[in-house]
Amino acid sequence: MEAERTKKLEMEMLTCTFCGFCKSVCPYFEDNQWEPAVARGKVILAYGLTRGDIEPDDSVVKRIYQCTTCKDCERRCPSNIKVIEIVKAARGDLIEAGHMLPAHSKIVENIEKTKNPYGETKKADFGVSPKEAEIGYFIGCTARYRTTEIAEHSISILKKLGIDFTLIDEVCCGSTLHRIGLPQKDIDEMMNANLEGIKKLGIKKLLFTCAGCLHMFKEEYTKHTSYDFEVEHMTQFLARQDLKLKPLKKRVTYHDPCHIGRHMKIYDEPRMLLKMIPEAEYVEMGDSKESSRCCGGGGGVRAADPAAAQRIASRRVKTASEIADLLITSCPFCVSTLKLGNELIKADIETMDITELIDDLLTV
Ligand code: SF4
Ligand code: SF4
Repeated sequence: MEAERTKKLEMEMLTCTFCGFCKSVCPYFEDNQWEPAVARGKVILAYGLTRGDIEPDDSVVKRIYQCTTCKDCERRCPSNIKVIEIVKAARGDLIEAGHMLPAHSKIVENIEKTKNPYGETKKADFGVSPKEAEIGYFIGCTARYRTTEIAEHSISILKKLGIDFTLIDEVCCGSTLHRIGLPQKDIDEMMNANLEGIKKLGIKKLLFTCAGCLHMFKEEYTKHTSYDFEVEHMTQFLARQDLKLKPLKKRVTYHDPCHIGRHMKIYDEPRMLLKMIPEAEYVEMGDSKESSRCCGGGGGVRAADPAAAQRIASRRVKTASEIADLLITSCPFCVSTLKLGNELIKADIETMDITELIDDLLTV
């Protein structure tokens, strides 16, 4: 195997002291207790592949994909190892050498055919046609085709607030392919199609409800393209609005999605919104903000290993259910993964996206 990408990170890998601090936080390691699931295990595997010391057999491929890209190991790592860069590079090398998990091959095929990872052929219609406007809302594939209520509630909020906004004739942002390890050339076309559509409408600020899409625009679009509009999470935009909310007599807690939390440090605005709700009692989970536990769905894990994603999510739901009646988050993918987790433990807690709750309480 050529290992062209991981070879560039050889010094980074050699910096790992194998101290094992990453073991205390890795959601995958917590789930299966296998050393290759944790950051240092992946560093060893990736280094072995780079040097040609190990073969990229099925067990190695499986382990390299046992990572949600949650970034908690990087937070904990005293040597500041760029674990996610190493994981992404190893995935890229494996794909280059012809190794891809079947679930990920299906996603790639779906995107090639339909421009969304779910393979949906029917265009999602939310009753708002693209038009010229300064504010745009990028829905993302999960809220467009799976948790459509999040898109509907977000659109409803913007309408109630009298915001002149537009939807985009969007295609998949490319986040899934990027995290699976597809080469940038396979993602360029999607990036360019989205940017062309956005620029054509004269958008100055683009809002997101999906943590993964926003992270992709903020980090990867800026590396590989250029754009001159602002990008913001819906919670950041809403936290600055004058919201008149009905009271809610419930205990509410918040799950930080890794992609806007640890990756982008958006911690305050979702909490500000929840604390604006009259009579609601906001309670914080022990592991929150920078040390938030992962929902288990990211990095292609939900598709490749749904049982592990479900178990990881169930732990987060259990923690929330011990202190709150409502588990709120701000990403469609986290919502659906946390709900999947609760199917396993049937905890007495309702999970929803922050836009659903705010819209339900927002008076017109
Ligand atoms: S915490 Fe960092 S240095 Fe320590 S074993 Fe994990 S990756 Fe290596
Ligand atoms: S990014 Fe998260 S899932 Fe991946 S190795 Fe680090 S802690 Fe584990």
